Amino acid sequence: MKKWSVKRKVTLWYTVFMTLLVLLMLFILFFVGRNQLDTTLKANMQKFVAGAVTEAEYEDGVLEVDEELDFFWNGIYLSVYDKEGRIEFGRVPGGVAFEDMPYFKNNKIQEFTVQGETYLVYDLYSQTENEYEIWVRAVASKDGAESGLGVLVKLAAVIFPFLVILIAVGGYFVTKRALRPVNRIRRTAEEIARGGDLSKRIRLGNGDDEIYQLADTFDYMLDRLEDSFRREKQFTSDASHELRTPVSVILAQSEYALRNAEELEEAKDSLQVVHRQAKKMSGLISQLLTLARADSGRLKPNMEHINLSELLDILIQEQAEKAGEKGIRIHSNLQSEIMLYGDETMLMRIFINLLQNAISYGKENGNIWVILKENEKEVQAYVRDDGIGIAPDKLERIWERFYQVDPSRERKESGSVGLGLPMVKWMTEAHGGTVKVKSEPGKGSEFILKVPKNK
Ligand code: ADP
Repeated sequence: MKKWSVKRKVTLWYTVFMTLLVLLMLFILFFVGRNQLDTTLKANMQKFVAGAVTEAEYEDGVLEVDEELDFFWNGIYLSVYDKEGRIEFGRVPGGVAFEDMPYFKNNKIQEFTVQGETYLVYDLYSQTENEYEIWVRAVASKDGAESGLGVLVKLAAVIFPFLVILIAVGGYFVTKRALRPVNRIRRTAEEIARGGDLSKRIRLGNGDDEIYQLADTFDYMLDRLEDSFRREKQFTSDASHELRTPVSVILAQSEYALRNAEELEEAKDSLQVVHRQAKKMSGLISQLLTLARADSGRLKPNMEHINLSELLDILIQEQAEKAGEKGIRIHSNLQSEIMLYGDETMLMRIFINLLQNAISYGKENGNIWVILKENEKEVQAYVRDDGIGIAPDKLERIWERFYQVDPSRERKESGSVGLGLPMVKWMTEAHGGTVKVKSEPGKGSEFILKVPKNK
């Protein structure tokens, strides 16, 4: 039973069910039908006899009946006897003698058998007006009445099995057809498993039964999987690419120094380049590590009560110097004593990233505005600049890993590889918050951070 296919199991189940149903129906047809026939026959006999009694009368010592009286009706034979049991009128079924029948019993139905055939007999005693006594008797073959039913049951016994076979075969094909898409789903899954080609889809087409829905869900899942595999691949290739550049600079510089540097001073120049590149690599590696840990769910915020107003104030002072080099002024409007339950390191990295971006992509002698405020539900922070801005079609992409609007420009900056904003987004979300951006090319950008307050 274990290895049976669904279509076989289903077919077997309803074939057995149908067979039982047919047997039950035959049974009901036969027994209920027979009972019904029996009751009708008995009622008819009584009616027949009761009718005849009123028709019979003695005239001048001779029993007479209405000439129109029939002695056979609906399979019932009628006969009239005098009190000695001599037949006066009527008939009994052929092959039945008076002696075969039970003696008269008033208003009773009795049963008797002659040559294997069962008969019913019903008697009614009557006294005519002239005080003559008569018996009116009805006799009918019970088997005869049931013979019609027998034919019906036999017919049903032949037709029903045919119907069951028809239903079983028809049902088998319908189930087979209905389950064909399942086979296709299985085959697709198998092909993907064997060949590793995630671009395969089931594509069952139109239809809205459960199997079509399953196929659609399956295709949707494959879309998502393919997408995430593609991104994973892209991430690895981007990461290797970003690491390769500083490594080749380090190799070139050290080789140059080894070959050409005679004096320590000369070597120092190369060492400086090597040091810068190594620092860049170290920064990149630590960013990659953070993201990898975040992806695997191992990076959990270390929550504590933080005075965000103070923290942000210190960070702004730190960045002010770098901003000053570009002639940028930072204007801050921080509501004091804003407390947040969060991870201090993460919050610092979020704001350092946003401030550094605002400086990097801000214009010379421009401005940066930082606003911090809160309401009952959340803490809101705004970091706005009047720098180069971001084109609307690039706006959503800045949250992607390694995405840079203008790679040639940004690559000059140390350690800038397009991982900052994805990290900002991840860390904000780790605090249950959201980060959004509004920007207009040439006018500037604004990053809006909202973090819910925990009790
Ligand atoms: P990057 O290391 O390149 O700064 P980010 O992830 O921090 O990486 O930012 C991704 C890209 O978004 C940047 O390369 C830049 O093109 C754009 N960007 C980020 N912040 C700003 C801003 N304040 N103004 C204009 N462009 C920005």
